[in-house]
Amino acid sequence: PLVLGIETSCDETGIGIVRGRTLLSNTIASSMDEHARYGGVVPEVAARAHLEALQPAIDAALAEAGVRLDQLDAVAVTSGPGLAGALMVGVGAAKGLAVSLDKPLYAVNHLVGHIAADILTPESEPLEYPTIALLVSGGHTSLLHVRDLTTDVELLGETVDDAAGEAFDKVARLLSLPYPGGPEIDRAAVGGDPEAIRFPRGLSRASDLAKHRYDFSFSGLKTAVARWVERFEAEAAAAGDEAPALPIADVAASFREAVVDVLVTKALAACADLGVPRLLLGGGVIANRRLREVALARAAEAGVTVRIPPLSLCTDNGAMIAALAAELISSGRPPSTLAFGADSTLPVTEIQVAEAVAV
Ligand code: ATP
Ligand code: MG
Ligand code: FE
Repeated sequence: PLVLGIETSCDETGIGIVRGRTLLSNTIASSMDEHARYGGVVPEVAARAHLEALQPAIDAALAEAGVRLDQLDAVAVTSGPGLAGALMVGVGAAKGLAVSLDKPLYAVNHLVGHIAADILTPESEPLEYPTIALLVSGGHTSLLHVRDLTTDVELLGETVDDAAGEAFDKVARLLSLPYPGGPEIDRAAVGGDPEAIRFPRGLSRASDLAKHRYDFSFSGLKTAVARWVERFEAEAAAAGDEAPALPIADVAASFREAVVDVLVTKALAACADLGVPRLLLGGGVIANRRLREVALARAAEAGVTVRIPPLSLCTDNGAMIAALAAELISSGRPPSTLAFGADSTLPVTEIQVAEAVAV
């Protein structure tokens, strides 16, 4: 089926067009620059930016795919989870488009969409089930057990406080680096010693593991970095003229190592516990080179195969939403009724929202 997908859950306005498992276009307009001076995504700003970006993005995606609106078989949209106002703009647009074209509408789960992104990589073998999936972005840090993309996705664990990308952004700020912090920390860590400072690995003690084996926590790590920097600066102030400069490369590398270590350790623990030798990675934090490096090396040791879609499909995009809807259509699922709305806390088990009751 020829499907147009709309993604507006955070700060990317993503429009993607797929034909079945073939990617035809993937247009992304980001309002990131508008949030930069606030050091994080401002929901109202994001929603307004989506409103402005949607129509040009739809036009661009259609042009790039060489497709006319009336040729579409279906429209797909992210219904949640995400920022309520931002989601609402996409949901409204998708409903309007589907109704005006008289085409079926599929309202789908953003997190499951991140997994569906993997389908659009033609050079690789098809995704095998079951697989463990680790989704790491500015808004999410989730570990999933995927038995079937269209019917059975289980949440094993998630962050109990900050998301991994959020931790990068907050620590960058603390080090006076600009937003978004992930790429900045990556750059700052070049030449740094990842073992220089032993920062805490959240929820990794034996007593934590009993209840939070697959959960993550990054807020203690952020505080530990803040304390370390404060202490260093206090000592530097006391030392006067002889004071050394903050070893920013070591701090960045050590912080990054703590995040990467705990992400990879818990993902591979899930693979081992559940006897699943496959791990799929997704979300914007996968851009982190150290994370990919450590994941690939430690998975190889553990006999686990790792799949990482290209970065343009790992960050938020409309193509993954279209791909998920195409899979739902191919497996015979009826479209969503127009009764659905934006659901900022949509659970990952709800792959498609407000399915029509088949008669
Ligand atoms: P959502 O959580 O809904 O998927 P998002 O927009 O917050 O949305 P993405 O766009 O997928 O998430 O990713 C953005 C996040 O990824 C930011 O927090 C950013 O700092 C982080 N990031 C980007 N590049 C890197 C990197 N090289 N290393 C670590 N983090 C990175
Ligand atoms: Mg984003
Ligand atoms: Fe996302």
